Amino acid sequence: MRRPLVAGNWKMNGTRSSVAELTRDLVRQVLPGSVDVAVFPSLIHLDMAMHALASGSISVGAQNCAEESGQGALTGEVSGGQLAEFGCRWVLVGHSERRLVMGESDAVVSRKFATVLASGMSPVLCLGETLEQRRSGKTLEVVLGQLCRIIEDHGVAVFANAVIAYEPVWAIGTGLTATPGQAQEVHAAIRGYLANEDAAVAEIARLLYGGSVKAENAAELFAMADIDGGLIGGASLKADEFGAICRAA
Ligand code: PGA
Repeated sequence: MRRPLVAGNWKMNGTRSSVAELTRDLVRQVLPGSVDVAVFPSLIHLDMAMHALASGSISVGAQNCAEESGQGALTGEVSGGQLAEFGCRWVLVGHSERRLVMGESDAVVSRKFATVLASGMSPVLCLGETLEQRRSGKTLEVVLGQLCRIIEDHGVAVFANAVIAYEPVWAIGTGLTATPGQAQEVHAAIRGYLANEDAAVAEIARLLYGGSVKAENAAELFAMADIDGGLIGGASLKADEFGAICRAA
């Protein structure tokens, strides 16, 4: 059995006081012992969040990292090694906001993925199609193409430690959630693709769904055979709702 993971991506949100309040309320949530829970604050709130959450079971990750793992002259960047040393357990890689808004190519995503692993953390690799790509019947081509690049560069065995998050771009922050059937179809295709390479890795790889997951739709999504948890944006900024999503996993 795969252990579910529920991950909260706080994106570019929060102030000192709102993060203090959110983490205080998260610590008070009753979380199931059978589920891994992680949050991804913005970099300037990592330290606060780690301290505030230290007494509980919620782990902390970063939303991005540099392509490099060491230290050096790269103004404005934070390396994989720095994040690992700081205590991060996970890093989001290839989120559609970084692919589409920041222009990160498959090559950049692949190098960041490798850096996160080499630094001793687990990448959460985000894959997903735009509405236009879905409407033109290209969903699986796009999603499996993004996955294929990582497998070509790093092999399939990395997915024993890396997590995959399928996040249809049209569902992110729009309130339009994929139906459980739509999500399961893509998740099954992702697991099938992994299984073609290595059946044992496909069996243990964790595949999350992301895109307008809320307390009210989490249970039906998480009930699908190939959905092992969620990557939650907006709803992770509300402790009660995030707690309810974790309890649905
Ligand atoms: P959302 O974001 O839950 O606000 O749709 C999900 C994500 O981008 O990870």
